[in-house]
Amino acid sequence: MASPLRLALIAHDEKKDDMVAFTCAHAPFLAGCDLVATGTTGQRVVEACPNLEVRRLKSGPLGGDQQIGALIAEGAVDVLIFFVDPLTPMPHDVDVKALMRLAIVYDIPLALNHATAEMMLKRLGQP
Ligand code: PGA
Repeated sequence: MASPLRLALIAHDEKKDDMVAFTCAHAPFLAGCDLVATGTTGQRVVEACPNLEVRRLKSGPLGGDQQIGALIAEGAVDVLIFFVDPLTPMPHDVDVKALMRLAIVYDIPLALNHATAEMMLKRLGQP
């Protein structure tokens, strides 16, 4: 059997409802994935979809984005879904940039908004 897809999830505060809607809509598929998320994103996802198992790291502003970047550098993440809020200044903007940079350096699929994430899942055979 193929090993599960390793998917990292992050959503900025204004995008968390969007992430919850996305993960709940695709919960049957995501239940077969190996999910990791920043702290609050992971908490919101498991509260909304209790059947999903999510490994929760630190909250983004406290190092969670960097932890996910480190996992990417180690080859431990296949896909990054990161719902970014482009309208709010972030105290951890440098971490966000560093994470995006590593996703590009390691050439992993990177969805920065809901529409792209939906296209990715379609590409993976999801309705
Ligand atoms: P959070 O972190 O999931 O802990 O809110 C996300 C972020 O702001 O980078």
